[in-house]
Amino acid sequence: MSNKVYDALIIGAGPAGSIAAAILQRGGRDVLVLERECFPRFSIGESLLPQCMQYIEEAGLLPAIEAAGFQRKDGALFLHQGTYGGFEFSEQFSTGSSETFQVKRAVFDKILADEAERFGVDIRYRHEISAIDVTQENPQVVCKLPDGSTEIFTGRFLLDASGFGRVLPRLLHLECPSDFPSRTSMFTHIEDNISDVQYDRNKILITVHPQHRDVWFWLIPFSDGRCSIGVVAENTHFDSRDTRSEAALSDWVNEDPTLKTLLAHANWDMAARQITGYSVNVKQLTGHNYALLGNAGEFLDPIFSSGVTIAMRSASMAAGLLLRQFNGERIDWERDYQKPLLTGVDTFRAFVTAWYDGSFQDIIFHQQQSADIRKMICSILAGYAWDTANPYVENPSRRLNALAAYCRANGT
Ligand code: FAD
Repeated sequence: MSNKVYDALIIGAGPAGSIAAAILQRGGRDVLVLERECFPRFSIGESLLPQCMQYIEEAGLLPAIEAAGFQRKDGALFLHQGTYGGFEFSEQFSTGSSETFQVKRAVFDKILADEAERFGVDIRYRHEISAIDVTQENPQVVCKLPDGSTEIFTGRFLLDASGFGRVLPRLLHLECPSDFPSRTSMFTHIEDNISDVQYDRNKILITVHPQHRDVWFWLIPFSDGRCSIGVVAENTHFDSRDTRSEAALSDWVNEDPTLKTLLAHANWDMAARQITGYSVNVKQLTGHNYALLGNAGEFLDPIFSSGVTIAMRSASMAAGLLLRQFNGERIDWERDYQKPLLTGVDTFRAFVTAWYDGSFQDIIFHQQQSADIRKMICSILAGYAWDTANPYVENPSRRLNALAAYCRANGT
């Protein structure tokens, strides 16, 4: 057992872990990050939102990310049976960056972690947390080391940024089911060989399956002639399909005429992966000397690419509060962390619900749109889901339902 008491122990070196670690270390704190994998490692979640640039900058990580040559992203394009709904983030209602990047996460996450390490953060790879004790004054974690032995680490505060590993929710029995049905996603990277000059590589393309409005595809271009391609559908849609091969994914993709044409010369050179039942919820995001960040807390759905933004927002909030707490301020974590974080999460939740019940599609594919309302919706798509000046943050479900009803009543 190490006798050292760190200011903060962080589980996981994904975006949430690295952003929190960098902010704390730059604030003069002693941080230990314990990461199960060896970086670089594959991770899904490649289309960022402009809002997250603020947190990358706050953590001092922007120069390294800017220098990495990632694909710029300035908007989102939705398509269903030849009807486009497009958003340029420059239209957004909220102030803040209107551009971001589309990134291979293996590269992106390694840059964030390496930079945090350069600031002085101690990151230990191939260190897996298997047990915790948050009942003590200083929380402790039991960690499996690369040689198979175990070591106990102690910190004054524990941040769980373990993503889908969900260490604290599992060990503290905090998990509860999501309101969303269980869905499956299959995805891979391809050499896209797209020759269509109209195709805009600066945007994520979301296409809706021609027959099933709840089934959708993403196409996320990278800067090296490759794309991330994926399909999302309720598990039952996969029942009669092979889910193990890239041929199965390309069969799905070929059911969408636009993608079929666009990717006619693509080289499917990487194995497909799949993930099922990723939407999860928790009873609480904080407790005695701990907080859950990013996906370790809650994951909604990939449709609006909100995952990394929520992860970074939670990291920025928790690290900021922790610095204040270390300076002697009394922090009420439920009031100061959980509640304000959930404002934005709940905004995205309303948008995800509206996507799958068809209302959001009725809105974005409606051809006569109010410029003011477009700006407000665009802001959410750009990740500004915590801007309470935006009426679509203040009351998202009621506004989306009313707007969808208007669009339906007034045809296309
Ligand atoms: P992660 O990035 O998952 O990092 C967690 C880290 O913790 C990992 O490195 C892991 O190895 C480590 N860890 C886990 N368990 C342990 C343990 N026991 N001990 C030590 N370390 C551990 N988001 C977007 O923003 N844009 C998208 O386009 C997008 N697309 C998505 C598509 C799909 C199909 C899915 C399922 C999700 C998508 N997401 C997207 C969400 C995105 O993947 C996550 O929200 C994001 O990666 C969360 O970041 P994080 O730092 O919380 O966790």
